Amino acid sequence: MDQYQLDEVARNLKAKGALKPCPRCDSSNFSIIGESEIVVEKLPPKTPGGLLGGLYALGVTTKTTMPIVVIACDNCGYISQHAKAALVTSHPAGLGLLGRSRNE
Ligand SMILES: [Zn+2]
Repeated sequence: MDQYQLDEVARNLKAKGALKPCPRCDSSNFSIIGESEIVVEKLPPKTPGGLLGGLYALGVTTKTTMPIVVIACDNCGYISQHAKAALVTSHPAGLGLLGRSRNE
């Protein structure tokens, strides 16, 4: 993430009311450490018939990755994760074809 996105994460955490203190030590100082991803396993949508219906009936799952933002308590190091898509709507410089303009 570039500085613009880091600022966007901090802005959106405040705007969404994610301001509670650390659940472990009650400190209110946090740092945005960076980003990572988690693997999410899910069933295909419940669809009657067809390939998706067959996969659903067999219990076949698909895996996808979800980008996350990693935030740490500055005092005790407690780590929390937020879905990046909920906090970042801009793209890194030069990749802004699908995202909002940084001038909005
Ligand atoms: Zn803490």
